[in-house]
Amino acid sequence: MCTEGIRTTAGSKILETYVPNFDATAVAKAKTAGGMILGKTAQDEFGFGTFSTNCAYQVPKNPYDPERTCGGSSGGAGCATAAADFPHIAIAESTGGSITAPAAFTGTVGLTPTYGRVSRYGLIDYSNSMDKVGVISKEVYDSALMLSVIAGHDPLDSTSYNKGSEDFTKYIGKDVKGMKIGVPKEYFSGIDGNVKKLVEDAIARLEGRGAEISEISLPSTKYAIAAYYIIAMGEASTNLAKYCGMRYGKQDKISGEFSEYFSSIRSSGFGEEAKRRIILGTYMRAAGFRDAYYMKALKVRSLLIKEFKVAFKNVDAIATPSMPMLPPRFDDIAKLSPLEIYNMDKMTTAPNLCGFPTISMPVGTSQGLPAGMQLIADHFMEGRLISLAAAAEVIK
Ligand code: GLN
Repeated sequence: MCTEGIRTTAGSKILETYVPNFDATAVAKAKTAGGMILGKTAQDEFGFGTFSTNCAYQVPKNPYDPERTCGGSSGGAGCATAAADFPHIAIAESTGGSITAPAAFTGTVGLTPTYGRVSRYGLIDYSNSMDKVGVISKEVYDSALMLSVIAGHDPLDSTSYNKGSEDFTKYIGKDVKGMKIGVPKEYFSGIDGNVKKLVEDAIARLEGRGAEISEISLPSTKYAIAAYYIIAMGEASTNLAKYCGMRYGKQDKISGEFSEYFSSIRSSGFGEEAKRRIILGTYMRAAGFRDAYYMKALKVRSLLIKEFKVAFKNVDAIATPSMPMLPPRFDDIAKLSPLEIYNMDKMTTAPNLCGFPTISMPVGTSQGLPAGMQLIADHFMEGRLISLAAAAEVIK
């Protein structure tokens, strides 16, 4: 996110020397409300990742175990929030789960608002139709407080919701008796047993407070990862086209053919995952492939929205694990293929494709490692998520 006078690289070498002359709207609002920017945090290059291992600079290490990931792509934000021994709230970004993953792996709260709730002005684009500015904090109250500050219409972002903000802290402490929570069976199979147990215990705590729990089914979820990566890569590849060494980002002395110059800047400026996404995203949008991939992915996106909307007729929120496993070790991540890494996003891609708000809350530890529960609500129902998360929260 752009910060006036502070280097802003989006985790990429191609923006190594970029110092914005303006603040992103969310940053400006936090400052106006009295916030102090302590620093910038590490992230996967342009948000491309789940473990913050695609950073062009340093990789954040999990405060619970330095040999393990903090999650990604907003891994540094999760890491700093968990490690800080003073009040601290991070502003973070999610396209397909980048707030939920680090929140789950660092035992913090991650609030991903409804698409459009917070202005994207000054956020460096990954995938415009899904990018959202949100919050990572130690407690639910802090996330609610920061959302109150950064939400609201911004004339500089034409996709921002045309209403002002509200005081989201008023949802803390609200009675959750009678609130209905759907538990989708598709999200509880093929996951780590320890995570499953911790999430089930948290759901039982909500039941203890009077929430009504029922099993639901979201069968199209199985298509979410494929649809997400097609749309995200398609949009990312167009967004990154502007970093060609002439107008934005890294530059060099122009020599030879333009195409050779562009290639040399882009080859040295982008990391491996960014290059993979540029190539795949371009391919999937190309004439002849567009209908087979991109258009089909858009149809899946509509199908998912419909399916969730039907579910929200009967339930106030949906509870799932935040991530399917405990924070993995770096040496195990190194053995995974890109596809295996993409498959780790199976809890988070559907709600993000649909633009629904989610909150990831810590549900305790297993083997000394934290796990999270993700609560999903209908568009603009952040208040419900805050009430439920606060009711299930165990403050240390
Ligand atoms: N892991 C997902 C991806 O790599 C989500 C990243 C994000 O939300 N920025 O695209």
